[in-house]
Amino acid sequence: MNDLTGIGIGRGIAHGPVARMAAPPEPPQDVPSQLSPEEESQRVAEAVQAVAEELAARGEQAGGQAQDVLEAQAMMAQDPALADAVAERTQAGKTGEWAVFEAFDEFRQTMAALGGYLGERAADLADVAQRVIARLRGLPAPGVPEPGHPFILVAEDLAPADTALLDLEKVLALVTIEGGPTSHTAILAREKAITAVVGVAAAEELTGGEDVIVDAAAGTVTVAPTQEQIDDAEQRIDQRAAVQAAPLSPGALTDGTEVPLLANLGSPKGAAEAVELGAEGVGLFRTEFLFLSSDEAPTVEEQTESYTELLQAFPGKKVVVRALDAGADKPLSFLTNTEEENPALGLRGLRALLTDEQVLDDQLTALANAQEATEADLWVMAPMVSTVEEAQRFSELAHAKGLKTAGVMVEVPSSALLAENILGEADFASIGTNDLTQYTMAADRMLGSVSHLQDPWHPAVLRLIREVGAAGQSTGKPVGVCGEAAADPLLAVVLVGLGVNTLSMAPAALSDVRTELTLHSAEKARAVAQAALGASSAAEARKAALAASQS
Ligand code: PEP
Ligand code: MG
Repeated sequence: MNDLTGIGIGRGIAHGPVARMAAPPEPPQDVPSQLSPEEESQRVAEAVQAVAEELAARGEQAGGQAQDVLEAQAMMAQDPALADAVAERTQAGKTGEWAVFEAFDEFRQTMAALGGYLGERAADLADVAQRVIARLRGLPAPGVPEPGHPFILVAEDLAPADTALLDLEKVLALVTIEGGPTSHTAILAREKAITAVVGVAAAEELTGGEDVIVDAAAGTVTVAPTQEQIDDAEQRIDQRAAVQAAPLSPGALTDGTEVPLLANLGSPKGAAEAVELGAEGVGLFRTEFLFLSSDEAPTVEEQTESYTELLQAFPGKKVVVRALDAGADKPLSFLTNTEEENPALGLRGLRALLTDEQVLDDQLTALANAQEATEADLWVMAPMVSTVEEAQRFSELAHAKGLKTAGVMVEVPSSALLAENILGEADFASIGTNDLTQYTMAADRMLGSVSHLQDPWHPAVLRLIREVGAAGQSTGKPVGVCGEAAADPLLAVVLVGLGVNTLSMAPAALSDVRTELTLHSAEKARAVAQAALGASSAAEARKAALAASQS
């Protein structure tokens, strides 16, 4: 057996031959231009314009989050500072190709050095540069191979423009050598339910035509599998297809215990698809995603419009909207202090909102307006709450606006440990396992080198979740989970066993979680949770839960 390992995205499994992404075009040479600086500038301007238009058109065709990503990439191409850096070089007698190559690379390096969200966008900028250079040379844009049969796509990393428009009839799975759990490849693969394993360093060795099995749940790529492994994979592929074709039902355990399954959304545009996939409401609407590229705080009017559009898609259903979570991996220039050395430990989330209550006031006003205009059951919550006073302040502000259900995210160990006191002030709690894991394990969620510590299966994280579940039960207040942990089917069972009432996830994950829940009773879920809690590592917890779930 020859397994390459990486980070699996989703639960899919696929079997087929490898096709490798074409190598990027040769970098240009620094030779003097035969044209005048004005002619070179003109060529570059036309090429940039054409590439930006092509990216925007691809975005329109793809829709959803892909559209936002591609539009952001189109804007990057047209950044005036970048245009100045290119012009400086053409003025100095360089060719357009060289000027673009050098200037874009300088910006890319600056972004990569910043790390975090911007660091992961550096690959997007490299892709824009390659597209502009290809256009200047009159070559087609670099892209996905077309071997004429279904294949497993292996690439260094994928540009959003390629991921967004993958032909899912042909691409059975994605394997990338680079990329972490929050790279665009991962986000878009999750959204489009493409089987993917990212960050597989050893995939460098894979060659076109090689037979592989990609197992996202296990995070593995099996090279040259045996017939037995192929038969097992094919059987699992058929089982998944059968489950996905079954009629949708509300989330529930075998004994009928209801576990509503909700969607995580970043834009009202994803609402229709979430409903189609069986979302019973929204458990986390990330409002900051609407304003990541804004320099100024959004107006009440513009927010009212977005929230109304979202709420209209869920009449009579619960929709949990989170107040702006600015800072660290999601900087908002109008709220975030970029000078901080440790932004994840700085003025982020509710802390940032409470330093300038006007932004929060406007957001709550817009939410109250949207509530007035629609039939949805609107709940609001605060991100990154770490004290009881913060919970109390947020509830007070939200209730004063007529928003009747105001809760908090539990993402910091202090909130989990004081969950009962926090729930004394808030109407509900929603556990953000991504940040809770980051802060419990002291491991930056954006950093590949500590990704082995960012595992919500770690018993230390599970014990904190147990505190919150128990506090929900003693206070009679609802407790949900809206971090990535809810999208892992077996971990979802553990969460329910720890006292969690609702699970919210990327809509593509709903089907696998729904199926797993139907296999266990509440009593069994508690036993599975107990088994995981008793472990001393994440791997052991996974193993113990699996064994308990099958006993
Ligand atoms: C979390 O931290 O788990 C969460 C859901 O919030 P975000 O991923 O947006 O920080
Ligand atoms: Mg969070």
